[in-house]
Amino acid sequence: MEYMANGFCTEVASLVGSRTEVSLSDHELWTRIVRYGEEARRWRQKFLGLLPEVARRELWRAHGFESVFVFAFKVGGVSKEQVERVLGIEERLRDKPVLHELLVCGEVSVNKLARVVNVATIDNQEALADQVRLLSQSAVETLVRDMKYYTKLVDGEPAADQSANTSMSLSFVRAHGLARLSIGGGSFTLTPQATQKLQELHDKGIDVSEFILTAVTRREQEIQEAKEAMTTETEQKRIAKLPSRHIPIKIKKLIKQEFGTKCAITNCNKLSREIHHTARFSLAKSHDPNLLAPLCKQHHQIAHSIDVKYQECRRL
Ligand SMILES: [Zn+2]
Ligand SMILES: [Zn+2]
Repeated sequence: MEYMANGFCTEVASLVGSRTEVSLSDHELWTRIVRYGEEARRWRQKFLGLLPEVARRELWRAHGFESVFVFAFKVGGVSKEQVERVLGIEERLRDKPVLHELLVCGEVSVNKLARVVNVATIDNQEALADQVRLLSQSAVETLVRDMKYYTKLVDGEPAADQSANTSMSLSFVRAHGLARLSIGGGSFTLTPQATQKLQELHDKGIDVSEFILTAVTRREQEIQEAKEAMTTETEQKRIAKLPSRHIPIKIKKLIKQEFGTKCAITNCNKLSREIHHTARFSLAKSHDPNLLAPLCKQHHQIAHSIDVKYQECRRL
């Protein structure tokens, strides 16, 4: 306690005394505060990680605190809700030692572990531990949402995806590699003009549903034909010779035509941000449109984390 207080005061005194904060350039000041912020977060994580054990041993009692909550607040500035949260997560992770270790060592934030605790099992804990180490908070949230979605599919609720009756991780890989149309994107409305045109067709005795289905099928065929033209041997050779890993504009257009503006993952409704090579470009040296998928930021991170895992497995 005294050490912490002294250490902190010395630091502040040196700053104030030498008035360094005034003489620092904008860049130096920014670099310094970002570093302090990162370190504060790191130490806070470690503090939170040790709390459950301190609570179990009731160490706070011997040091004159009324409760673990008072101790955590006075020493670490941690609120009662946060302590309760950590204690709850720790309890639920006790039978999953790999994830439990991440919490106790403060290696991964409590926020991330709070997400995965709902989907963690003894069998998937190692894979999840790798993922939470690699992924950002928002990507972890996306991953957990996906896992819940695929678990539902496996349990046979919505039977939309045939690949779902495989293992969880395989579902992900397949979803990343093969997802086509995103359906769960909410409802849509037709413009008055489109409604009128369809009404006219209906009045002529034309089956509007059949008409729409035909149009959609034709669109899919056109895209497929364009893809095939691009993946002919000569075209692939030409593309492979391109020095850049930038995707040719012609292929980008086709991808946009196929996937629209949304992420290619079936249950994701976010806008796509990056086009992902499902076969790594550095290995495949190909912009084959069959191996490209536009993904949102979070799914792109997940796709690459799976890829890293895959590479590690191969090496082993
Ligand atoms: Zn990528
Ligand atoms: Zn997505």
